[in-house]
Amino acid sequence: MPLEPLLAEIAACRACAGELAHEPRPVVRVFPETRLLICGQAPGRRVHERGLPFDDPSGDRLRDWLGVDRETFYGDRRIGVAAMAFCFPGTDPKGGDFPPPPRCAALWRARLLAELRVELILVVGSYAQQWHMPGAKGRSMTDTVRAWREGLPNVIPLPHPSWRNTAWLRRNPWFEAEVAPYLRARVAAMVGA
Ligand code: SF4
Repeated sequence: MPLEPLLAEIAACRACAGELAHEPRPVVRVFPETRLLICGQAPGRRVHERGLPFDDPSGDRLRDWLGVDRETFYGDRRIGVAAMAFCFPGTDPKGGDFPPPPRCAALWRARLLAELRVELILVVGSYAQQWHMPGAKGRSMTDTVRAWREGLPNVIPLPHPSWRNTAWLRRNPWFEAEVAPYLRARVAAMVGA
């Protein structure tokens, strides 16, 4: 199926309606031109309300890792975002978000990837890493990111850019010393002027 009708099908998906405390709102942002795909966990509440992925401080940190500004991130159709689940899964009793429902990847992920011509996938956090990287199974997120070269040239694992991971970034300075510069160079080669 071509990309546009598939995206329309995803936009109309209500498969999780009976299990969410809110109306599903699929948020996926890809284009026929998308070559760099960012795969996180699932939209948070703010993304659910606004419909724009990474429109928050996490997105600012991610853009810093990529070396792109907001204008490029949202305006360059070579950059796309498709999380492991497309709808906000809700907030758990501890204040975090519920994990992405596996149903979403089972329903849509392979079909969506088949319609894209992606050159580099950034897999953000353990859910995306375990789906996209066979070697990530049974590994911690830290060990998977530490072994980031294993996924090259097509996949790079990243920690979530959330403020919740600020302590992780301090404990693992190799990430911003080694991975982020490599990532910026790759992204510049793909979407630079
Ligand atoms: S999370 Fe995925 S499967 Fe569930 S309703 Fe949203 S688009 Fe459909």
